[in-house]
Amino acid sequence: MPTKRCYFHPDCRSTLFSLPRDGEVRDQWLKFIFNSVPQNYYPNLALCAAHFTEESFHNLREFNAGFAQRLVLKDGAVPTLKTEAVYGPQATTSQQGASSQELPTTSTLHEVGCQSDPIETETVATEIKPKMRSVGTQLSMGIQAIYYGHDVGTQTTDMFPDVQLSSTPVRGSVFRPSKRPRLVFDEEEESELNVEPTDSTYNPDSVVTEESELAIDPQPDHSDNKYIVFESCLRELFVSCPICKTKCVVQSRRRRTFVAFTQLCEKCNYYRQWQSQPIVGSTPLGNLLLSAATYFTGGSFKQLEKIFKAMKLQMMHFVTFRIHARNFIEPTIIHQWNQDQLNLIRQLQEGGNVAVAGDMRADTPGHSAKFGSYTILHMETNKILDLQLVQSNEVGGSYHMEKVGLKRCLDKLESNGLAVDYIVTDRHPQIQKYLRDRNITQFYDVWHFEKGLSKKLDKLSKMKDCEVLKKWLHSIKNHVYWSAISSESGPEKVAKWNSLQNHIQNVHVHENHLFPKCEHPDKVSRDPKKWFQPGSIALHKVEKLLYNKRVLKDIEKLSHNFQTSSLEAFHSLILRFAPKNVIFPFIGMLCRLYLAAMHYNENANREQATTTAKPVKIEPTYNHIDDLMSLLLHKVFVDPKPYAEELHAIPIPPPLSSQYEKPS
Ligand SMILES: [Zn+2]
Ligand SMILES: [Zn+2]
Ligand SMILES: [Zn+2]
Ligand SMILES: [Zn+2]
Repeated sequence: MPTKRCYFHPDCRSTLFSLPRDGEVRDQWLKFIFNSVPQNYYPNLALCAAHFTEESFHNLREFNAGFAQRLVLKDGAVPTLKTEAVYGPQATTSQQGASSQELPTTSTLHEVGCQSDPIETETVATEIKPKMRSVGTQLSMGIQAIYYGHDVGTQTTDMFPDVQLSSTPVRGSVFRPSKRPRLVFDEEEESELNVEPTDSTYNPDSVVTEESELAIDPQPDHSDNKYIVFESCLRELFVSCPICKTKCVVQSRRRRTFVAFTQLCEKCNYYRQWQSQPIVGSTPLGNLLLSAATYFTGGSFKQLEKIFKAMKLQMMHFVTFRIHARNFIEPTIIHQWNQDQLNLIRQLQEGGNVAVAGDMRADTPGHSAKFGSYTILHMETNKILDLQLVQSNEVGGSYHMEKVGLKRCLDKLESNGLAVDYIVTDRHPQIQKYLRDRNITQFYDVWHFEKGLSKKLDKLSKMKDCEVLKKWLHSIKNHVYWSAISSESGPEKVAKWNSLQNHIQNVHVHENHLFPKCEHPDKVSRDPKKWFQPGSIALHKVEKLLYNKRVLKDIEKLSHNFQTSSLEAFHSLILRFAPKNVIFPFIGMLCRLYLAAMHYNENANREQATTTAKPVKIEPTYNHIDDLMSLLLHKVFVDPKPYAEELHAIPIPPPLSSQYEKPS
């Protein structure tokens, strides 16, 4: 592979440093090399480490200790030493140039790596039991990946396992440097350049070399636009020399979504490297962004993979996706949710006690559920306050998941100093008892109650002698909501509910001072078939259903708002992030629930557009995904350790059984 050379030591194998991008510093380099700043110079100019004082390096100590493969120059470092190349601690130096400085003969600059070393170690570990293990990348940029992996992992050490050479054969040693690098282009070439002054490929600034990309901390930006580019279109850019127009030797290196080209003109030695994406540490940013975007939006890797394969769009392996997820994406989600939740709780603390609604969602109906998630919704703001994931085997079966989930939610709010005024739930006896014991006022959710009652009424209306009920089903349903929502107290709810018993018999005044008379207009249907007849079987059966002791007790405790329908909406939203047919590990499931909650909290209160007569559904916004991306790229990916620890603080129950170990 062609590489750049030190201007003074073409055979030097030590770390090479390209000209800095900063114009002022670059000019200082050029002055050091040429004594003045030349008009034209070899675009791939580089210097080896021997031309810099020890203070010029960020990581000399780590490098000498063998922890860094590559020396990294400090910003603004300028070469000052014109010496022989130093290959190791034993090497002696002799002054060549006019510089008065000299590297000490016992220089500790020794090279543990060389240019042709693989620049990345990718650890592919089978994930069985989370176990923290640090694996430093070979780069000295300080990116440290933490793998939760099985102790024994397979290692692949080539950065580009699928290197593919171009059809143009590369002969001999590939790069045949002129005796001295060309400094000034001859006139013929210069005049050619003048013909095409806009050819930016000639501008040394635009020459992106691997060295400069890796050594200079890039500012990765996820908001940069990306395009679908055909390989044949890309190759066109490199096929001929921009200086002398000769056909070039083109090599490509690929790594999933990443591709890099090197171009060498064998006639004029023009050489450049180009890569399709920024590389941070040793990770092509596109691979990471694709993993993150898939995860954050609740997408399915497998589905995406099918689409990509269908059009030969390059994509990373599932294993890579999982490594990204485990090391960076999931810690990002956990941290973001914790922050969001803390902010919401702080806001609500100022308003005193809170009224909340709570409900449980099991991943499968009945008692076979693996996971249950208990959600607490703050009714006034319609925001999810807390969410607890419970695995059935940690609580002795799925029957107990709801109570444990509720308990953990209430504990969480309590420990954050948020007192619950009352809670709206459904009427599971276990929950009733628990809240009574905990001395928390409970109301029953109208939505759940009405659904249960309507189901029974529906069944009854299909029975012989009860046909008259059919016409009443809708009214009774509305009456449930109306009784609950329009009332100030429990007895008022019951009074309104009881009025129905008269009303269905065409009687509209009632012996109850809380609700003495129906509120509808006096004019009612004269069709006797519409009303229930006193003493009829139909009336008897309906009364038994609507006015038994249990129902009356429930009516009294119906909640006067029905925000748990919001919880139902949230529960169906979860399906978009965690489809029921996919089995997720505990943390994976938790992260998907948090993502659903973040999406819900951002979009729950979208105003309906009122510009047209018909309400228009407003498209959801996705600001939280931007926040997640920023957190991932600028914080978690740079220093994953604290975020991994935050994730690690979550107690993870042991897997339910081996059948759930399938990757998802
Ligand atoms: Zn050198
Ligand atoms: Zn050329
Ligand atoms: Zn429930
Ligand atoms: Zn009436």
